[in-house]
Amino acid sequence: MSVGTDLLDLQELDLALARSRADLADLPEIKALARKRKAYLKVKDDTLRIVGRRKDLETELAELEEDERDCKQAVEDVQRGCVDPSDYDAVQQLEIDLSNLAKELDKIAFAREEHLRNLAEVKEQEAQASDFLSRCERAIKADAQAARNKAQSIQADIDQAERRQTALRARIPEDILAEYDRCLKRFNGLAVERLVGAVPSTCRMTLTESSLADLSRVEGITHCPYCHRMLIVTEEA
Ligand SMILES: [Zn+2]
Repeated sequence: MSVGTDLLDLQELDLALARSRADLADLPEIKALARKRKAYLKVKDDTLRIVGRRKDLETELAELEEDERDCKQAVEDVQRGCVDPSDYDAVQQLEIDLSNLAKELDKIAFAREEHLRNLAEVKEQEAQASDFLSRCERAIKADAQAARNKAQSIQADIDQAERRQTALRARIPEDILAEYDRCLKRFNGLAVERLVGAVPSTCRMTLTESSLADLSRVEGITHCPYCHRMLIVTEEA
């Protein structure tokens, strides 16, 4: 194979390598994974707050139940106390005490009901959040594995292309390789073009008769009179 063909192959390989490296650096799977992780962390944070609220409600409920027990005990104590039925003041005080305790018990019962409703609601939120979190964990695990697999496959392609690149570069003469590298930088990856009839394959400017006559005296590689890329005139060795 001629040096010209090797150069064109090398350019194609270098372009493919640049694409693979860009793909690897910018995997959509990694971005999707980051979005899922963010959503997961937010719900995890919310769940901590929900659990805190549930624990508070449970504590408050336990306190209400204790208040209720105390109150019922107080009713019993009042009822058991001996009051002289002829002592009007004492009877009246007993009625006031019992009525106050009954009001207190009503208040406690009302608060308990409200707490129980809130607790049921919070427990439902907690169950939903924990269900979301476990589904999210499974999805993140699977996505991470898929992203790893894809990255590994791209990396394997890169490794293989780099080995071919090294082998190709080893057979191209050093001065031509140096010119290729210079043009690669200058022309942003498109260093070499081939002459197809009267038209170079990259800049696609039809060459004049006199340019073509000049090129006909060249064997192999020269520079394009228009864009100054390396121009492969003949690919035969
Ligand atoms: Zn050109």
